[in-house]
Amino acid sequence: MNFIYDNLNKVEENISKAALRAGRKREDITLVAVTKTHGADLINEAIRLGITDIGENKVQEIMQKYDSVSRANWHLIGHLQTNKVKYIVGKVKLIHSVDSIKLMDEIERQGHKHNRVTEVLIQVNISGEETKFGIRPEEIETYLEYVGKLSFVKISGLMTILPKVDESVSNRLHFRNINRIYVDIQSKKYDNVSMRYLSMGMSGDYEAAIEEGSNMVRVGSAIFGDRYYN
Ligand SMILES: *Cc1c(COP(=O)(O)O)cnc(C)c1O
Repeated sequence: MNFIYDNLNKVEENISKAALRAGRKREDITLVAVTKTHGADLINEAIRLGITDIGENKVQEIMQKYDSVSRANWHLIGHLQTNKVKYIVGKVKLIHSVDSIKLMDEIERQGHKHNRVTEVLIQVNISGEETKFGIRPEEIETYLEYVGKLSFVKISGLMTILPKVDESVSNRLHFRNINRIYVDIQSKKYDNVSMRYLSMGMSGDYEAAIEEGSNMVRVGSAIFGDRYYN
């Protein structure tokens, strides 16, 4: 598993340099190591090497790995179905993928049941891509108002997934646009909203994302290599 050590060093170095270029500190940026398809041994090795936050895109994978992985902050980064919320409330530090009011209602309901407040990010489809999950930028305000009525959900930021491109130039514009929205919301006051995390950037573009304001990057293959699906 030596390759993880080397990959992680490289990613760490790239994050530090990108942060520096953006006039920020390494500590201001959270690296979420995306572990989907990988087993507990590999994940535990990454944690031993300093990874504190791990991201999974499926509820089922979190449940399968939860007990065999060392203490870590779990992040749900993939689409979340309402009927799966009950399995992760109280287990995950952050749900990155809230994109419906119905989902917020269910997180509230489960939070009430277990007396746990869940921090969430609103997933925004900033690129306008047809196939992606996420709400339109014009809808964000509705969510910021709505969460004020809830007791067990807090909005802690925004998240976006961008299409993979060869050239990071086009994504840079999207990064910039969502950062503008993020900063704008920071200057306003909503109950149960504190804009602390801007989750964007994956293996192909995390450096550009940090330069454009990201403080939470979700990096998988650059750390763990290619994923194999069966
Ligand atoms: C898989 C995944 C990532 C990581 O992708 P890599 O290109 O392997 O870094 C990040 N975010 C989400 C939502 C993912 O599903």
